[in-house]
Amino acid sequence: MDHFIYRDGALYAEDVPVAEIAAAVGTPFYVYSTATLLRHFRLFDEALAGLDHLVCYAMKAASNQAILKTLAQAGAGMDVVSQGEYLRAKAAGVSGDKIVFSGVGKTAEEIRTALTGGIRQFNVESEPEMAAINAVALDLGVVAPITIRVNPDVDAKTHAKIATGKSENKFGIPISRARDVYALAASMKGLDVIGIDVHIGSQLTELEPFRLAYQKVAELTETLRADGHDIRRLDLGGGLGIPYESSNTAPPLPIDYGAMVKESLGHLNVEIEIEPGRLIAGNSGIMVSKVIYVKQGEDRQFLILDGAMNDLIRPAMYEAHHDIIPVIEAEPGMQQTAYDIVGPVCESGDTFAKGRHMAPLKADELVAFRSAGAYGAVMSSEYNSRPLIPEVLVNGDQFAVIRKRPTFDEMINRDTIPEWL
Ligand SMILES: *Cc1c(COP(=O)(O)O)cnc(C)c1O
Repeated sequence: MDHFIYRDGALYAEDVPVAEIAAAVGTPFYVYSTATLLRHFRLFDEALAGLDHLVCYAMKAASNQAILKTLAQAGAGMDVVSQGEYLRAKAAGVSGDKIVFSGVGKTAEEIRTALTGGIRQFNVESEPEMAAINAVALDLGVVAPITIRVNPDVDAKTHAKIATGKSENKFGIPISRARDVYALAASMKGLDVIGIDVHIGSQLTELEPFRLAYQKVAELTETLRADGHDIRRLDLGGGLGIPYESSNTAPPLPIDYGAMVKESLGHLNVEIEIEPGRLIAGNSGIMVSKVIYVKQGEDRQFLILDGAMNDLIRPAMYEAHHDIIPVIEAEPGMQQTAYDIVGPVCESGDTFAKGRHMAPLKADELVAFRSAGAYGAVMSSEYNSRPLIPEVLVNGDQFAVIRKRPTFDEMINRDTIPEWL
């Protein structure tokens, strides 16, 4: 459920007509709904009620300061994967003890920044990284709280590019080697081994892979405790999927996920941490774009938009589906047309949808890409020298630009010319 709905034939973001935002900021742009962000955060928070828990938003999904602040004020922690994200979270007012540091390649500089600024825990992904964290902690005279990310070798049944829990993936240490690696960690004076971390992938549409992974984590918890480790926190990662296609069956709800977590791990008396990104931000944002031309090809019609793959790369990168809807609702009963919906970038991959059936559209009309809030703006680029598109946040009947569109001069003047030219 989200807060982008038609009222009297016009698409609204909460109580603001989307066309009004388009008139104010120009197209294309992203717009997010505060109510949807908060709703999705609370669904997770409530799903884990009764367990000692913290929902750490995986901010790589959408990392605008205003989004982070909205969620942080509601009580969310943050899952970060780089120094830049760590500093963004801090800048949005998140305290270090609510920031979890994930990612396979943390550098000594990143580790130092986090240990100096405060960190809830590092999720360690390899032995060399563990040694690096230990070294920086000893150098600073502090102790670094860590979990170790285990790779449970389960099939997440999702797109290959976002599956992370199989033995062939680069993430975590093989669960079969966990006891040895935990023993090594316990011998390092700069580390405090507090728990186990697992994250098997993104856009999971079934609970079963999670259940399999969490059962393995439950067994490992008991084994490691028997080995003398004080395992008191389990970080279960993110990955719960969202319905991208209104016509498909929906993935499990956070409440069902929460029930499964309680069933698999509730008996262990541990603190539970989860790191949802997509499910919090995905349906909280849309991308709005304008039709530039309707072009008749030999055997098909192209809808050429002013938005492109550089603004929303998911269709090109993951063969992802986004529902694309008109901002002014079509008259009921209108004959539908099949369109190939494309952007202006000079690549055939700049195709959002093929043969998509929609009521006829004309130049200058607006369309909205639904479920574009996660892995949308954060993955955008200025390919083809198209300035990064603005982000807007709606809250009830108010809206604000939360990242402005750079001017062409701003974009060009980020380059510098060497003195010999
Ligand atoms: C990407 C990622 C997440 C978030 O995944 P979603 O599918 O967006 O929920 C959580 N944890 C880690 C370690 C990740 O890499």
